Amino acid sequence: MHTINAPQLVEKILANTLESIMITDQKGRILKVNAAFTEITGYQETEALGKTPALLRSERHPVSFYESIWTEIEREGSWSGEVWNRRKTGEIYLQWLSINALENTTGETTHYVAISHDLSELRAREAEVEFLAFNDPLTRLGNRKLLMSRLDQALASCRDQGEVLGLMIIDVGRLRPINDHFGLTSGDEVIRLQAERLNQVVEASDTLVRLQADTFALLRHRQADAAAMSRLATTILDRLSEGLTLDDKSLLMRPSVGMAFFPQDALHKEGLMQAAEHAHLQAKNAGRQTYCFFDHRQHYQQQRKQLIEQDLSQVLGVQQEPGLQLYFQPKVCLASGRICGAEALLRWQHPTLGWVSPGEFIPIAEQSHLCVRLDRWVLSRVVEHLASWKARGLGLYQLAVNLSAHQLDQEDFAEWLDTRVQSAGLKASNLQLEITEGAMIRNGDAAVALLKDLQQRGYSISLDDFGTGYSSLSYLDSLPLNELKIDRSFLPRLRQDQRSIKLLRSIAQLAQGLGLEVVVEGVEDDHQVALLNQFGHIKVQGYYFYRPLPEEAFKKLLPGAKAKEELPLCH
Ligand code: C2E
Ligand code: CA
Ligand code: CA
Repeated sequence: MHTINAPQLVEKILANTLESIMITDQKGRILKVNAAFTEITGYQETEALGKTPALLRSERHPVSFYESIWTEIEREGSWSGEVWNRRKTGEIYLQWLSINALENTTGETTHYVAISHDLSELRAREAEVEFLAFNDPLTRLGNRKLLMSRLDQALASCRDQGEVLGLMIIDVGRLRPINDHFGLTSGDEVIRLQAERLNQVVEASDTLVRLQADTFALLRHRQADAAAMSRLATTILDRLSEGLTLDDKSLLMRPSVGMAFFPQDALHKEGLMQAAEHAHLQAKNAGRQTYCFFDHRQHYQQQRKQLIEQDLSQVLGVQQEPGLQLYFQPKVCLASGRICGAEALLRWQHPTLGWVSPGEFIPIAEQSHLCVRLDRWVLSRVVEHLASWKARGLGLYQLAVNLSAHQLDQEDFAEWLDTRVQSAGLKASNLQLEITEGAMIRNGDAAVALLKDLQQRGYSISLDDFGTGYSSLSYLDSLPLNELKIDRSFLPRLRQDQRSIKLLRSIAQLAQGLGLEVVVEGVEDDHQVALLNQFGHIKVQGYYFYRPLPEEAFKKLLPGAKAKEELPLCH
């Protein structure tokens, strides 16, 4: 084996270490440097030998700095710290330097050893990391974090000074098709170009940041009134929609801008961001190429709608105390004044919104397809109520339930309903299904077929809100109907208008001629009752007779056990 002696070992270590090493005699003359020294400083060993470390001095430190180093070495035997030096090329760099005095056996200093490494790269990396914490690498603009921190400062100062703060959310155009067509690198290039354009139109005191992908935000602290912000938004939209070419193809950019203000739209950071984002969404929905201010009413309505949708879905999954309740509004036979049926109407007590009208939550449920579950919830409860009233001998022949349009798409509906009704010991004829004209027409032949099936099984079918949709009398004959409910909007017109009276009478007569029961809904006063009395045998429903009632109150109206339980009370 090849052995290696101690001086050779030291040589090897000196040559291979990444730290620059310089050894001087006690007078500070350089005796030895290693390869890393040459690498970092640019001086060959021959150029350095015999010189003093002053060879590397930059003008960055005063003489006193070097004096203090030597004082400490004399006192402590060593020193370490950061020093700015100069390379042979003249470039100044930062290094970490540690100097140690070497003593002989009698305690005299014989040598000094200086070990150092270059800190420039590390510092540059640290600076970049710090930069990236608050900036976006692609556009070199600030990022969301910077915006949040500036928003904090700006809000604090605006609160103190009573100033207005404007926040703008800008998207620079639809990027998805560009990314899809030209690739992500081209997409990035477009973002960078649009960011440059934005940067050219904002003021030095504005904070402009890239929030994500193609979305930017601009914070204006001074003169952020609506007029100034509108002018700025127009300039931004114009600038960003100027032509851009990529691979010789001209791109159509369609930017949009949304804005919100402190204090009028929100008092806090999150609220202001949400308001500006909401306004931005509005601008996008309005077809882009436009700007929008935050709209409180719309925002409130949207939030309320979301809450209703979300909570309704949750409520339907809960077995007990869902906050949903059925009220019952009697249908009255006008000639006898007796109750001949009732309509079940849904009521919902929301935990925070209070009572929410079905006029509000049913359309929301229809849009989100929750209404299929909702209708089935209602039908299940109605079947339970009917069964329990029957068991107690209360005479109510028929209860009507409103069905939403989507229920008519459900192929299993008739089977589902039959199973419930039969297992509760009821007859199909105890249930009436109210469907609006719109729902029937929207669902077309399939709906008509389903309704025919239901009618054949014994369910009564009622056409609700007649007069608000197509109101074509000609097709009444072709639909599987048992009852026609004339919409309440007809009634207010009866007071002034003879033609309306004639129209209503003709509809009632025609429907009766087709063998349909006629119900007039929304009857509210004596005058209407007097007029309707001339219409022959009709049913009425309305506040004049009964308001929708909770179960307890409704049950009290029903004839007791002795009544002819299985017969409609008004015939
Ligand atoms: P609709 O089926 O036309 O129900 C009649 C509505 O008129 C009910 O409103 C009722 O309270 C109201 N009303 C009754 N008499 C009078 C009156 O004399 N004057 C006036 N101005 N209004 C009267 P409600 O309970 O707010 O229900 C509104 C709508 O919500 C219903 O209209 C129905 O389309 C829907 N809806 C209610 N409950 C349900 C349900 O369980 N399922 C489904 N799918 N829809 C329901
Ligand atoms: Ca109805
Ligand atoms: Ca109705």
